Amino acid sequence: MEQNIFDTVILGGGPAGYTAALYAARANFSVLLLEKLSPGGQMATTDVIDNYPGFPEGVNGFDLAMQMKQGAERFGAKTKLAEVVEARLSGEIKQIRTKEETYSARTVVLATGARPRELGVPGERELRGRGVSYCATCDGMFYRGKTAAVVGGGNTAAADALYLSRICEKVYLIHRRDTLRAQKAYLDPLKRAENVELVWNSQVEALLYQDTLTGLRIREKLSGEEREISCSGLFVAVGYLPETELFRDQLELSEAGYVKADETTRTSLPGVYAVGDLREKPLRQVITAAADGAVAVHFMEEYLNS
Ligand code: NAP
Repeated sequence: MEQNIFDTVILGGGPAGYTAALYAARANFSVLLLEKLSPGGQMATTDVIDNYPGFPEGVNGFDLAMQMKQGAERFGAKTKLAEVVEARLSGEIKQIRTKEETYSARTVVLATGARPRELGVPGERELRGRGVSYCATCDGMFYRGKTAAVVGGGNTAAADALYLSRICEKVYLIHRRDTLRAQKAYLDPLKRAENVELVWNSQVEALLYQDTLTGLRIREKLSGEEREISCSGLFVAVGYLPETELFRDQLELSEAGYVKADETTRTSLPGVYAVGDLREKPLRQVITAAADGAVAVHFMEEYLNS
């Protein structure tokens, strides 16, 4: 496999990457998908996805990821679990290097997504795994029957707070403003959850800990008042940063670091497509990521046949 020139190498196995793999393999192109950890990306860390059509009861993110992988592999796409350390994207034949191998490809699909943004309070990195987490569905069970806090006001924070409310005795949802930016679908369930306390206009000033997290010092921004709350888990959900380090010097990026590509997913380099959360776009959802993957292959076909 390593000696071939692939029609396409796809970097990242989230919904965008696996949809591109499905469409490309089904169009009879040779497809290699490289994934660092395990299929699914952020989607795999989501407990229930309610807004991906075709699943009237919702679907677990990890299960959906495995189904997307199987769907692509049914048509011959290959997955390799390997971390990409270098991507040379210019020229007709592109080179993708992992720690073990170098792969050649006529086209490359960038689907590396985004990683959670840190809150930036002292001790946050040291306490990762000892009270601080960036994934409620991965780590929530460690706080069963305990008190946890979620910071953020977007869909992730709202979904995390709801998920944790079913596991933890008490959940604080701490947001720096007085309205959530999360979709309305989350608001009523959050208000109804008796063990969720919404803490508005507040920010985390300090992490309190001995060996593990014991609480937070938070400051109410309007009054300036500070108070301490006890909790053994802090779930940071303050957005994501695009994973573009490997190719940021080769492609046009937006000010925030997202890859510039319009609805065609074509980037500033011929034969290179940006799909999913790393693309500059107005709505980042599983369905828009999947749609990007399909669109990329439409334009890839044009490129490969020309
Ligand atoms: P997001 O929408 O960017 O929201 C980040 C939140 O963190 C905002 O409320 C922001 O506050 C707050 N924040 C940012 N920096 C902060 C800081 N330093 N201190 C305190 N708070 C800070 O991120 P997200 O919720 O992770 O969502 C990311 C993308 O995934 C979105 O496109 C979202 O729609 C999508 N997503 C969708 C679903 C779903 O549809 N079910 C679920 C999860 C994620 P401000 O509001 O004041 O800016």
